[in-house]
Amino acid sequence: MPQKIVVAGSGFAGLWSALSAARTIALAEKQGEIEVIVVSPTPNLVIRPRLYEAELDNMNPDLQELFAAVGVKHVPGLVETIDTDARTLTVALIAGGHEAIAYDRFVLATGSQLFRPNVPGLAEYAFDADQFDSAQALDAHLKGLIRQPESDARNTVVVAGGGLTGLEAATEMPIRLRAALGEDAAFRVILIDTADKPGGSLGDEAAPYFAEALAFAGVEVRTGVRVTAIDATSVTLSSGERIETKTAMWTAGMRANALAAQIPGEKDEIGRVIGDSYLRAPAASGIFVTGDTVRAATDELGNVAAMSCQHALSLGRVAGHNAAAELAGSALHPYSQPKYVTCVDLGDWGALYTEGWDRQVRLTRAEAKALKQEINRVWIYPPAADRDAVFAVAHPDFVIVP
Ligand SMILES: Cc1cc2nc3c(=O)[nH]c(=O)nc-3n(C[C@H](O)[C@H](O)[C@H](O)COP(=O)(O)OP(=O)(O)OC[C@H]3O[C@@H](n4cnc5c(N)ncnc54)[C@H](O)[C@@H]3O)c2cc1C
Repeated sequence: MPQKIVVAGSGFAGLWSALSAARTIALAEKQGEIEVIVVSPTPNLVIRPRLYEAELDNMNPDLQELFAAVGVKHVPGLVETIDTDARTLTVALIAGGHEAIAYDRFVLATGSQLFRPNVPGLAEYAFDADQFDSAQALDAHLKGLIRQPESDARNTVVVAGGGLTGLEAATEMPIRLRAALGEDAAFRVILIDTADKPGGSLGDEAAPYFAEALAFAGVEVRTGVRVTAIDATSVTLSSGERIETKTAMWTAGMRANALAAQIPGEKDEIGRVIGDSYLRAPAASGIFVTGDTVRAATDELGNVAAMSCQHALSLGRVAGHNAAAELAGSALHPYSQPKYVTCVDLGDWGALYTEGWDRQVRLTRAEAKALKQEINRVWIYPPAADRDAVFAVAHPDFVIVP
């Protein structure tokens, strides 16, 4: 019986964990002795960083040929429980029923989801662009607005949250509304932020560019207020203002996938397992944590990985390699990712590209937009199903940043 590395999740971290593990096993010539199994609902990679965009084509590329090319097996299912003593997972199979899968090494790569606080009406009425199905629901709703009677509520979109996702969603929204309602349609997009300026978390150098891009897009901004209630036709703010809208979009806050809570050991305030430098869960032998489920130091200066695709791509490669290396007897590789960049899409204005944790602005407007499109439409997509080409980039040192 071969030993088993089971990876839960086929997002950025899960995909690259599996590819990297397969490479390490091949290098050690242990293909017959160690197998890699990915468990996720479908063998697809959801391109979450693009889910705010106007067109949702090619947002969940198929991974079957890629997995076949490197000998990775896929099981369509959801991991429900992790028995860390028995080293066994319970998997709810998409086809129905449950299966117990034993592992020698387990890689938790089940990502994160939007945090929905207990705001009245939020669960029932708020849209989001967090997962593929919820982004599709928002898209269908926006495209269906034209069939509803004209009203202020129909023609107004409220985006709650002035972080990066809120900024991207709000500045893209006029493009989407013009496509949905007609080029000359009158509409309002209102961005709500509890802070005093949208995108303030990216520092003082970036903030004026966000203000310029929001103004360019015609987005109204309400700062220093929070959403207190949402219903089918309005959003109420802590200031007492009631905005008539049939489209409230929630973008604020992320939490690690609930499975992280089943891994013994310390978690951070957003539910991530505190990993060691090899991305092991220190209190659970045989378990690696990666992507949005791990809190990991990126350098020796105190910076930690963000819940980001940028970090997941590297965290995945390291976790997968280390899981395989432990079984194959190869050297483990510590995680380190000192270079950090951000590239924020800002609708027709362009984009903003910064470097460093202090967010030094490097590119703006059309130049940054070209880079953002390269990142979002090329770099983060899965590689072609060519074993040698995959193994050339599936090593734990590989980092894709400009
Ligand atoms: C709108 C939006 C814009 C973003 N923009 C950016 C950006 O510009 N730059 C950036 O770096 N990041 C961005 N991000 C963040 C980025 O998408 C995430 O950090 C990244 O997807 C994390 O990768 P992951 O592999 O850890 O998790 P995910 O991509 O969330 O993948 C999780 C995987 O686990 C699977 N899964 C979940 N539960 C189970 C289970 N119980 N069993 C088995 N499988 C399971 C899922 O189906 C999926 O395959 C954005 C996110 C959103 C939503």
